[in-house]
Amino acid sequence: MGILILWKEENMNLYAGKVLMIDLSSGKISVEPLRTEWVREYWGCWGLGLRYYCDMVQPDIEPLAPENPIVFMTGPFCGTMVPLTSRFSMISKSPYTGTIYEANTGGAFGPELKFAGYDGFIVKGKADRPVFLKIEDDRVSLESAEAVSGRGIFATEEFLKEAVGSPEAKTLAIGPAGENCIGYSCIGSEAYRQFGRAGAGALLGSKNLKGVVCRGTGGVRVADVTTFLEKVRQYEEENIYTDDNLWANTDGTPVLVDLTNDLGIHPTRNYRFGVNEHKDALNSDAIKKAKVSARACTSCPLACGKFTHINGAEVEGPEYETLCLSGSNCGMNDLEQVIRFNRLCDDLGLDTMTGGSVIALAMDLTESGRHDFNLKFGESGEYLKVVEEIAMLSTERGRELAMGSKKLAEKYHAEDMAAEVKGLEVPAYEPRGNYGMGIAYATSERGACHLRAFPVDSPDRFDIEIMAKEVADSQNFNAIKWSMCICDFWGSVSHEIMADLLSVGLGEPVTAEELTVAGERIWNITRLFNLGAGFTAADDILPKKMMEQPLGNGPAEGRVFLKDDFDRALKIYYSARGWDEQGVPKAEKLVELGLDQIRI
Ligand code: SF4
Repeated sequence: MGILILWKEENMNLYAGKVLMIDLSSGKISVEPLRTEWVREYWGCWGLGLRYYCDMVQPDIEPLAPENPIVFMTGPFCGTMVPLTSRFSMISKSPYTGTIYEANTGGAFGPELKFAGYDGFIVKGKADRPVFLKIEDDRVSLESAEAVSGRGIFATEEFLKEAVGSPEAKTLAIGPAGENCIGYSCIGSEAYRQFGRAGAGALLGSKNLKGVVCRGTGGVRVADVTTFLEKVRQYEEENIYTDDNLWANTDGTPVLVDLTNDLGIHPTRNYRFGVNEHKDALNSDAIKKAKVSARACTSCPLACGKFTHINGAEVEGPEYETLCLSGSNCGMNDLEQVIRFNRLCDDLGLDTMTGGSVIALAMDLTESGRHDFNLKFGESGEYLKVVEEIAMLSTERGRELAMGSKKLAEKYHAEDMAAEVKGLEVPAYEPRGNYGMGIAYATSERGACHLRAFPVDSPDRFDIEIMAKEVADSQNFNAIKWSMCICDFWGSVSHEIMADLLSVGLGEPVTAEELTVAGERIWNITRLFNLGAGFTAADDILPKKMMEQPLGNGPAEGRVFLKDDFDRALKIYYSARGWDEQGVPKAEKLVELGLDQIRI
């Protein structure tokens, strides 16, 4: 099916210089030169992928329609020796929230794609039967995936590696949840890494694309390799092996279990409480006892991934978000059961954050007598059983939970119990105990998200004015950081460091100032897209329960984020962004960012 031999060409510094275009309807595969005119404004991953995506669609596009493209994009450092830079992004419109949607994953697929000679690939159309995309350097083809139709991600990834006859090949795959187009299905990569949250799996599933396998044997060129490697070594020693980042190696994200409990912002029992009194069963010490080995993404010396094993249950993880939202928030204080839950989700292709939140809501609905889902806080049997029911849509209960919190709450008139923003479930940092996180969730472009701004331990967390401005700055910074494919756990990376490495790698000067502007530009494009998709200022809001129901225990006990305070925060935030009172970027802001001529 559609094999194409592509030509080799000299690649650019830090970029491969080519993007693969895949039309699944016709089976046509082609290669296009990288749109270099966009590189200095959008750089890579999120930003560059977003620019490609917005050039191809109108915001009212139906997410699961064949014509909706999915853009996969690496960044300039991906595949180089710069540590913690192996992430790559997927950009499309979310079938779960209807917003613009970026997700990124670590692991090893991004660098492998660069080694094969591509900065990214763009998929559109729909295959008439399940297929996978095979990339082996300049040999690219679509092949039948019918043999693994309906199978889990782990088996599918093995099948994909066998298809290229190389254990070195890197893979992306969806499980039954993606094939069934469930709104919170993931794309898995290398077994335990995911493009998660808002329906990446469904996007692939809607196109009958079961997976992608890539084997690349090239490299990434830099302008001045000696200086580049010296800089890499210098930043590694001075900026990565520091206390700011070493927790990722020693503890990984489970270290946050104790921190968030100490702050009283650890969602527990469907976001009723801010402290889990049984948190020791799920904290970093518990994970260390169950740890059997570690794993790193390509080019990462921190190796934050922890393989855990208890009584035959094993997984890479669980990460903090899973420990909290699938553990504490479900009253599940048994690490072995959380590991089992995590592994099931990873194999079937469900997001553990949303999965945990939806199940917690169903437990709350059951225990409060509003509707009996036969799910109770802390009871593991049905908690594990329902995961497959959701992914397979095999029972009425599974089909209802597959709708997600927003629709489930609407169905049972329980909007007061749900914790979502723009349809995406609230992450594991309670906004009643940190107003900055509340502002971050309400204004995130893809719904409640902790990866856009993260003022978790700020001493000013209840100062609305400081938080509103800090969230806007962080969102801009993270937009460019994600566009460089830099992992979140390089906590001390700066515009200056990125600019320095880019200058040496590209062989042309790059300034911190232009990267600052690029971050703000990227954030504003997401806003323009969402406005075009029908979102308004009214959607920049927190769940009712966080504005009206006092938090149940801990240091933030009794707190709410009052609507009046929230409205004031939003006003300050819009003003800091140069947006009007309706959250629309003002004309002068668009001119300043070079966005006044852009068609979205
Ligand atoms: S810190 Fe963890 S997630 Fe980040 S690049 Fe390293 S191994 Fe990957």
